[in-house]
Amino acid sequence: MSPRPAWHGSTRKDTLPPDWPQRRERRLRADGYHCQHVREDTEQKCGAHANQVDHTGDRNDHRHEMLQSLCEYHHQQKSSAQGGDAAAARRRAARRRHPGITR
Ligand SMILES: [Zn+2]
Repeated sequence: MSPRPAWHGSTRKDTLPPDWPQRRERRLRADGYHCQHVREDTEQKCGAHANQVDHTGDRNDHRHEMLQSLCEYHHQQKSSAQGGDAAAARRRAARRRHPGITR
């Protein structure tokens, strides 16, 4: 009987590196402060104003290329999808209209 490794498990608080604010800012700037979420319905990038930075891969992988800028809407969508039925949540999200964009 061995305890679970400290980094394993869903209840742990995600730890961010000390230079996270700088990394985050760099990512946002590189993306022009535009949401990088690709909508499944249109296959276009959302493009709404991004003020969140999200990990595209492992949550402990903070490399520049493993991050993406997201608008608040898609960041929330992604966080609420995690741990649950992510595919179903994404399908639901794709059907819903994005409130942040008017065309
Ligand atoms: Zn978005």
